[in-house]
Amino acid sequence: MAKLLEGKFVAEKIKQEIRAQVQGLKKPPVLVSVWVGDNPGAATYARSQAKTAEALGIVYKPFNLDQNITEDALIDFILKLNADKAVNGIIVQMPVPQHIDYQKICEFISPLKDVEGMHPANIGKLLFGRSRIVACTANAIMELLNSTGVDLYGKEVVIVGHSEIVGKPLMLLLLEKFATVTICHIGTSKVGKLEEHVRRAEILIVAVGQAGLIKGDWIKEGAIVVDVGINMVGDKIVGDVEFEVAQKRASYITPVPGGVGPLTVTVLMRNLVEATKAQQ
Ligand code: NDP
Repeated sequence: MAKLLEGKFVAEKIKQEIRAQVQGLKKPPVLVSVWVGDNPGAATYARSQAKTAEALGIVYKPFNLDQNITEDALIDFILKLNADKAVNGIIVQMPVPQHIDYQKICEFISPLKDVEGMHPANIGKLLFGRSRIVACTANAIMELLNSTGVDLYGKEVVIVGHSEIVGKPLMLLLLEKFATVTICHIGTSKVGKLEEHVRRAEILIVAVGQAGLIKGDWIKEGAIVVDVGINMVGDKIVGDVEFEVAQKRASYITPVPGGVGPLTVTVLMRNLVEATKAQQ
């Protein structure tokens, strides 16, 4: 039976490091969180970030902008935050309304204040293995893998999902550790090869958003399974992997909820501290 990989334990250790670093700074770091409209998901993330920030001695300033704000007005707002020396980090909460191009907005956040690691300059540094600020979910997954003590060198790692916030940055982080990385996506599924790839994974990371996509009996005996997916099934939150069967085959597995999620906000705060140190 697999051991549970619970984010809160890893997060606690990182929080202690963050608290010590915050105390060593000239001023507490200031994080500005911008969310547009009244999407309940964005508001929930903002509340969870505010709580974590407060517990770490970080100043959290939320700005809820009107649903109908134009892209240009949002960019102006961000440029002002870039110029404000009192602001150390900026995040724009997802999802944004359809008339706003999220990737374009990210390009206007100063790379020094881009605590989510989504500015092209920070993504470029990641490619060269020189980044200080890395996309939070990918970074959180690396922390979970580290907590198992596994040596990634030469390991067969299969990632399902190639999004900019999870699969792609994670692939680069794993390559830095000399893992052998395969990325699967919709094309892999459409040609019927997903099962074949998943079956040979010593480490499997799934970030799709489809309950039950990965069958429990596909999991290799002794594999480490990180399930990033979040899906509502009835009134329950579940991941993308059939947990009950997978748990019997894996050596480690993340619960959903309680795996990657609790770590992501902590890693965001660590990015903020890194950004603040670079600015100060
Ligand atoms: P995206 O929708 O951006 O990416 C989903 C990925 O899955 C895409 O690469 C897509 O490929 C691929 N995909 C879709 N269908 C299939 C399929 N049948 N077989 C294989 N691959 C498929 O989502 P995100 O990366 O933003 O999020 C993924 C999941 O992780 C969601 O459930 C989200 O809620 C969760 N999440 C959880 C976080 C946490 O902190 N716990 C943080 C971030 C995300 P293509 O684009 O080619 O269609």
